[in-house]
Amino acid sequence: MNNARNKGTSLSKLTRRRFFKTAGAVTALGATGLSSPEAWADELPRVSEDSDMARALSYKHDAKMVDAAKRASDRYCYNCALFAGAEDEAWAGCSIFPGEAVAARGWCNAWSPKQ
Ligand code: SF4
Repeated sequence: MNNARNKGTSLSKLTRRRFFKTAGAVTALGATGLSSPEAWADELPRVSEDSDMARALSYKHDAKMVDAAKRASDRYCYNCALFAGAEDEAWAGCSIFPGEAVAARGWCNAWSPKQ
């Protein structure tokens, strides 16, 4: 019985967590005034490699410019879970850099595998 109650509690926490995660993403998207990833690529300014955030995350438009010790050679923005565009788009939004576009062939150290 305790197991059933614990499962219910865990599920509730998971559901709440997902809700807030999704709500945050929707709010961030709404704040940009853009409605689709395709719109991001065309309308967003590109991330500046010299910005504080880009430097903190070692972001580069060309992933091959990143020190090989920091980045696995098969990791690019286009195959990162946070890249909002299709694999064939040159630029797209990224939730790490709200309101800006990152290069598909770029990379930063927040890279996460697509599920
Ligand atoms: S989080 Fe992913 S998509 Fe965004 S800049 Fe970093 S590697 Fe590129």
